[in-house]
Formats: sequence, C-alpha cells, structure tokens
Amino acid sequence: MNKKIYIRTFGCQMNIRDSEFVMGILLERGFEKANSAENADVILFNSCSVRKHAEDRLFSNISGLKDLKKKRSNIIIGLIGCTAQNYKEGVFSKVPMVDFACGSGNITDLPEIIKDVLKNRCPIVAADKVNEKRKELFPKYRNGNFKTHVSISEGCDNFCSYCVVPYVRGRERSRRQKDIIEEVEDLANRGFREITLLGQNVNSYRDSPLRGQSLCRNDFVKLLENINKIDGIKRIRFMTSHPKDASPDLFKAMKNMDKVCEHLHLPLQSGSTRILQLMNRGYTAKRYARLVDSFRKFIPHGSVTTDMIIGFPSETENDFQKTMTLMNEIKFDSAFTFKYSPRPPAKSAELKDDVLQEIKDDRLKALINLQEKISQKRNEPLQGKVLEILVDGRNKKSPTTLTGRTRTNKTVVFEGNKKLIGKFVDVIIESVTPHALKGRMV
Ligand code: SAH
Ligand code: SF4
Repeated sequence: MNKKIYIRTFGCQMNIRDSEFVMGILLERGFEKANSAENADVILFNSCSVRKHAEDRLFSNISGLKDLKKKRSNIIIGLIGCTAQNYKEGVFSKVPMVDFACGSGNITDLPEIIKDVLKNRCPIVAADKVNEKRKELFPKYRNGNFKTHVSISEGCDNFCSYCVVPYVRGRERSRRQKDIIEEVEDLANRGFREITLLGQNVNSYRDSPLRGQSLCRNDFVKLLENINKIDGIKRIRFMTSHPKDASPDLFKAMKNMDKVCEHLHLPLQSGSTRILQLMNRGYTAKRYARLVDSFRKFIPHGSVTTDMIIGFPSETENDFQKTMTLMNEIKFDSAFTFKYSPRPPAKSAELKDDVLQEIKDDRLKALINLQEKISQKRNEPLQGKVLEILVDGRNKKSPTTLTGRTRTNKTVVFEGNKKLIGKFVDVIIESVTPHALKGRMV
C-alpha cells in the first residue's frame, strides 16, 4: 500500500510554496496525500526560522504529537526546510521525536530520504546542499486551481544583519527565465489566473546566474514583460522587493504592463538611518521615502505595504520616533510589524539584545495603533468605488460571505454564491475597516 504523507507548514509564502512542491514530487513518486496527521504514515513539518516565535510554535507542535507517536510507533516525523538546515543534527536533541531532518537545499531528495527512513528506521540528516541550485522538477500538484506562487530565485546574498535567511537558504540562485516561463505557461493552460512570483529579493533576479556578474536590473523587468504576454494569466504579483535594488525603471515598466498588479511590498524595517545601517540594509530613510514617491508618481492608485522590526539592538526612543514619523509621512496601506529576536548565526545576534521586553511591547503597540489609523484613512477614499475582485474563499461561519482581493491586494468581503470562488467579479465598496473593505456585487 502507498504510504501517506501529511505536511504542516509554518512561515512565509516561500515555505508554503516549498511544501506544495514537496507534496508534488512525493505524489509523483507514488506517495499519497493524507487528510490529517492522524492517518498519515509520514508527517513532515516544514518550518521557517526567520523569527523565534515561529520556531517556538513549531517545536511545541511537534511535541504535541507525543501521544500519536506512542499509539503508532511506526509513524515517521520529518523536519524539513530552514529550521532543519539551521539545527542539522541538533534537531534530535531539541525534539527527540523527529526521525529525520532535511534542509531547504536537499528537498528534491526527499522521496529517497523518506524511503530510506521507512526501510531502515535510522535517523538521517540531509543538509549539505544549501548553496546548490535546485533540480528543475515541474510537479503538477498545486494547493488551489486559480491562483498560485512561482519561485523565481532561491536564497539571498544581502546578509541583513538580523536575518538568518542567507545561512539557511544559501546564496542567491536565480532560476532560468525559460524554466519559469514554461511553468507559468503550463499553469495558465491549466486554468490558473493569478501568479505571484517569489524571491527574497526579486529585484536582483538574473536570468544568467553567473557569479561576479554586475547586477542587471532589467532582468526582472524582462521576466515580468514576458509573463505579461502569457495568455490566460490575468494578474501578476511579486514579492519581495528590496529598497536598495528596486528602481523607478521597474515602476515605470509596471505602469505599462496590464497584468502586473498595482501593489508594491517594500520592507522598510526602520525609520532610523542609524538603525538601517546597523541592519546592513543598504539605504537611508530618505532614499526609501523617495523610492515610494517615485512608485506613487508612476502608479498613483497603487498600494504600498511594508515590514517593520522594532527593538533592534540599541534602538533608542529617538530612533523609534523616527520610525513613527516616517510611517506617518509615507502612509503605508498596511504593515507587518515584528519584535526583534536574535537569530544566530545572523550577525546581529552578537549584539546585546538590549531593548527591554516591555519597551518592545509598548513600541509594537504604538506602531500597530498608528498603522491602523493610517490603513483606515488609506481605505476610506475607496468607498463608493467599483473594484475588480478575484474571489478566493468564503467565511467558515457564514458560508454566503465571500472574500476576495483587489489588484492592490486589499481584502474585500461581500455576499455571494460559493460558485464564484476563482472568478473575477465587480464589487462596489460600501464601508471600510483598516483590514478589509466591505462591498456588494454589481
Ligand atoms: N526577503 C524578504 C523577507 C525576509 S523575512 C525581505 O527582505 O524583506 C520577512 C520579514 O521578517 C523581514 O522583512 C523582517 O521584517 C522580519 N524579520 C527577519 N528577521 C527578523 C528578526 N531576527 N527579528 C524580527 N523580525 C525579523
Ligand atoms: Fe533576509 Fe535581508 Fe535577504 Fe530579506 S534581503 S531575506 S531580510 S537577508
């Protein structure tokens, strides 16, 4: 009988895409998908290690399987992805229930690794390919059938001082444009309408990934232009843009590509140039603000979202106030806000984590409050407007309440039939909150 696989994913979109990819290659190698951990033969935990909080949740979730593992001692538990890469053999002392660990670079070997563990029942650590280019496999499996993610590059070369990604996902490797186009064409033929291109820094995408080559900013624009030509695709999104590499050329090109959505996710991290320098981000607060101005000049009705870290080592009240002031000036549509946590071997882990917990809590609260007010203000002018929505789900408690996204990536809630999921509809916006728009189909 075929062995059944269940995957739990913690973390970013990149991780969600990796889990989907892993399920895809396993299904093509004769494994089956289990609908719950209870009836699986192999449970995989795919986890991000970017923030401590995600990692703590991961370890407590694995430990939560103690009873299941006692009841069914032959069940296999594997840890895959960034956390496995970071801990390697250390995984077994952290969570002894884990049978094997497989880092991000080794996931194309998973079918063999799982077969090996099932047969020999001995622990395995596979984490030696963190810098290797992933084998170009094109598993058909996707979680949905109308919108999906496509990875354009792996790893990162930026070494922001707080960030573990370059260590756990390795140096930046771009996929060949030809392979990406082939994947998107296939998705379009299968009925997918919205594609989100994923990379840690999409702006440094290079079609020819030779080391030592000077950065060609236009490669990402060329990629977008070629995807924009693919019949069937209606919306193209991308993330994440890095402020040191994103340029007005990109914004200008976005304006001329009908399928590229009017949304820019551009992590700022801090409004204090001193802190940005300590973070090794490669731009000043001023330069960042100019970049957003340039985006809004080309795409006046576009949305801009960001990531912020508060409580980086040595952040003073004055640094924090600079962040508040800049947020007030720029007026993001929304922001993901994080409390700093040291992530060794990232460089900043060598600095003293000296902002007190309660100060971090207060600053986070103040930042969230400010952003809520700004988000509300950014959403208010949309009242009375008719917007095109891609319907993507429904409310579990109220099944006739549907949700969807605007091109600017805002969530819209409205009443409708579930048959509309996966379709484009026009909705008139009747009221707004900081986090969603409420409307009615027209
Ligand atoms: N490549 C993307 C995403 C990186 S991870 C980028 O450059 O933006 C996503 C977000 O997690 C980051 O933007 C940052 O805000 C946050 N983050 C990363 N490391 C962190 C840390 N050590 N503590 C708190 N937040 C962190
Ligand atoms: Fe981490 Fe910076 Fe790379 Fe983003 S750009 S993944 S924050 S090192």
